[in-house]
Formats: sequence, structure tokens, C-alpha cells
Amino acid sequence: MAWDFSTEPEYQEKLDWVREFVKDEIEPLDLAFPHELVYDKKHPVYWEVVKPLQEKVKEQKLWACHLGPELGGEGYGQIKLALMNEILGQSTWASTVFGTAAPDTGNAEILAHYGTQEQKDTYLKPLLEGDIVSCFSMTEPQGGADPGVFTCHAERDGDEWVINGEKWFSSNLRYAEFAIVMAVTDPDVPIYQGASMFLVPTSTPGINIIRNTGLAGEGPGEGAHAYVRYEDVRVPADAVLGGPGQAFVIAQTRLGGGRVHHAMRTVGMCQRALDMMCERAVSRYTQGGILASKQMVQEYVADSYIELLQFRLMVLHCAWVIDNSTDGRSPRKDIAAIKVATATIIKDIVFRAMQVHGSLGVSNEMPLAGMWSGAPIFGLADGPTEVHKVTVARQVLKGYDPAPGLFPTQHLPDRVAAAKAKFSEIVDHRVANFSE
Ligand SMILES: Cc1cc2nc3c(=O)[nH]c(=O)nc-3n(C[C@H](O)[C@H](O)[C@H](O)COP(=O)(O)OP(=O)(O)OC[C@H]3O[C@@H](n4cnc5c(N)ncnc54)[C@H](O)[C@@H]3O)c2cc1C
Repeated sequence: MAWDFSTEPEYQEKLDWVREFVKDEIEPLDLAFPHELVYDKKHPVYWEVVKPLQEKVKEQKLWACHLGPELGGEGYGQIKLALMNEILGQSTWASTVFGTAAPDTGNAEILAHYGTQEQKDTYLKPLLEGDIVSCFSMTEPQGGADPGVFTCHAERDGDEWVINGEKWFSSNLRYAEFAIVMAVTDPDVPIYQGASMFLVPTSTPGINIIRNTGLAGEGPGEGAHAYVRYEDVRVPADAVLGGPGQAFVIAQTRLGGGRVHHAMRTVGMCQRALDMMCERAVSRYTQGGILASKQMVQEYVADSYIELLQFRLMVLHCAWVIDNSTDGRSPRKDIAAIKVATATIIKDIVFRAMQVHGSLGVSNEMPLAGMWSGAPIFGLADGPTEVHKVTVARQVLKGYDPAPGLFPTQHLPDRVAAAKAKFSEIVDHRVANFSE
């Protein structure tokens, strides 16, 4: 009987260490250095401040825990990773210090699965060491949720492929050593069979960043989401990862893990928002009492607690399903479901925390407004909520067959008749006795 919510003592000690380390050593980075530096591995902050912290994480055997031992991780599995990511999710820099930052986690998985030995030596090794940054370049300006409209294409020319086309929101391209670029290689078949993934070093001529789009609040040019034009970008034949036509198989390998990791970190972020909400509720007086004495504030606290517990259990359940998968396939339905729930829970809990803080909550003197912007971002990045809901619904519906007759199988008249027939003797006997 293995339905157990306890954490084994040795791992709990590690989690306690992580919690202290994040509080004492990493949260100060969040406050002292701008968020954009997280991905700039050439900046002195990375080498002088972050690198020594990463060494401490490695000494604790907590580095890159999403990876198996063959790739330098600890092979802890998803449940342990979830418990750790809940803590890391409370800080902007923590994932970088622990070697679990997106999009590098997913890109490392792709290279590990599909890269040649030379590609692994050149790119995977430093990526796993945390010394370089990578980019995943799939979305196009004319559409992201529907790959059917993608036009960026690659053509074979002798021993090389030549890539042409535009991509949009290619995060961190400006800092990356390489990009994994999706391009159409066979326009005569549906995109799901006709697209390929290319490993493209960013030093290759022809990668022209039109501009780096920023998120709301970032000034022009400060952003890290590239609008890029690939113009006659030449890469060798072995740059096609997994062979031609494999782009979507590869994309699923990458995006599944990333979505789960975001959800794990979101548990931590929402717990932090709930903590802030509760502290404010018991601290602030208005109209003769603390906020916590007002029923509507109590409702905020109760709803937030209930929703967070539900979400956390969903995430841990999904982690458990992945850990216990016998065919190595990720559970699409569960991953799509937590992807949808991730955006919703940030929207709701962080919003309530802001509301309870009043004007202070929406100000730049609290981290809440920044956290809340995660809601629309998580509703889009790695695919919009609507598309993931469709996936959930399709996967759920796969388990159902049409009713065999005119009426549903739960239609009462037939069921009552069948039940009465099953107990006909008793029913007749009782009825007979009763009427006597
Ligand atoms: C912070 C951030 C980082 C990102 N990083 C990357 C990256 O590194 N690499 C990369 O390739 N992409 C990246 N993206 C892009 C992301 O994958 C796309 O935004 C996403 O796939 C949606 O594409 P779109 O923005 O073109 O929206 P569209 O495809 O235009 O969709 C817009 C809206 O239309 C609706 N919609 C779309 N399809 C359906 C449907 N089937 N049913 C119902 N409604 C629908 C939804 O409301 C959706 O939000 C990032 C996005 C963000 C916000």
C-alpha cells in the first residue's frame, strides 16, 4: 500500500538545506541584480557570484536534479524534483543556481536524446555545467498555436541544410550559444511529418535578430524574446536532430518536462503569495478589526489554501505518474491539465494577495505584481491554455464509447427494471409479506 504523503528523512534534510540556502544565499540575488542577468552567462555576476553558489549545490549533490545520473544529475525522479522545485519557485535566480532553468532543461534533454557525440561534447556538456545558455526557436510571427501556418523552411544543398524564415519570441537567443530551430523540410506532407529540428550554433552567419521583444514593464531593447530572421543559415547535414520529419516527436520530449517543472515551481510561488496574504491579513487594521476578521478576506484565504492544496496534489500526482510510467512516455492528459491549472492558480491566488495588500500590493514595493504577470505568461508560453484544454478533453474522451442504445447507459428506467429483475424474488416476497 504505497499511498504515502511523507518525505523520507534523508531527503527531508536535503530539502531543509535547500530552503535555508535559497533564503540566505539566493534571495539576495533576486533583490540585488536585475532579472535579465539570469541568462547572461558572460556577465561578471555569473562568474563571481553565481558560479560559487552552483559549486555548493553540486557539493550537496543537488545539481540538475531533473537529469539522470548518466547526464550528471542525481536521478531523483519527478516527485523529489517537485518537492525541491516548490522551494526553488520562490526565487527568480534559484533555478539557475540549481541547474534547472528553462529553456535549457528541455534543450539539454533534446541533445541528450538526439545529439551526435560531437554535438554533446560541444554543447551539451557546457549546457549541463550551466556555463552556456540555449534557445528554442519554434513560434513564428504569423502564428504559434497552429504550426500549420509555419513557413520557416530548410532545403538540402549538398552536405548542408540552408534555413530561411522568421521566428518570434525565441527566448534568450541574444545570450545563447546555440538554438534549436524548427523548420519545414517537406512541404508536401502535413507539418507534423514534414518539419525538422536543427541544431544551429548562434555564431552561424545569417542569424539576424530584428529586435528583442520585451515583456510588459521592460523597456525597448531590454527584452530577451527575439524576433529573428534566419537568412541562408547553413548548417551541416548532421544538424538535423533525430532525422528529418521528427520535429514534433522531439518537441513533445522537450515541452512535456518543461511544463511540469513550471507547475512545480508555481506551487512555491503561490505558497509565497499565500504567506504574504496571510501575514497582511493578521497585521492590517481596518474598521475596528484586523483584515483577517473580515469574512471576505477569510474567503480569500480559504479559497487560496484549498486551490493550492488541490493544485499541489495534482502536480505531485503527475510527477508520480511520470516516475511510475513503464513505457517511458509522459502522461499527456495530466501534463496538459497542470499546464492549464498553472496559469489559473497564479491569476487567482496572487490576485487575492495583491487585493489584501491594497495599494501596496500593486506597487513596485512588493513582488506581487511581478508574480502576477506570470499568469498570462504561463497561459501562453509552451502553448495557450485553450489548446491544452482541447488536449485534456480529447484524452479524457478517448476513454468513452457511445451508448449502445437510444438512451444513455445511466438512463434510469432500464436500470431500475434490471435491478428489480435481479432482486425479483426478494422484492416479490417482501411485497407479498408486507401486503399480508
Ligand atoms: C514569455 C514567453 C516565452 C516564450 N518563449 C518561447 C520560446 O522560447 N520559443 C518559442 O518558439 N516560443 C516561445 N513563446 C511563444 C509561445 O509558445 C506562443 O506564444 C504560443 O504558442 C501561442 O502562440 P501565439 O503567441 O502566436 O498565439 P496565437 O497562436 O496567435 O494564439 C492567440 C490566442 O488564440 C487563441 N487560440 C489559439 N488556438 C486556439 C484553439 N485551437 N482553440 C481556441 N483558442 C485558440 C488563444 O486564446 C491564444 O492565446 C513564448 C511565449 C511567451 C509568452
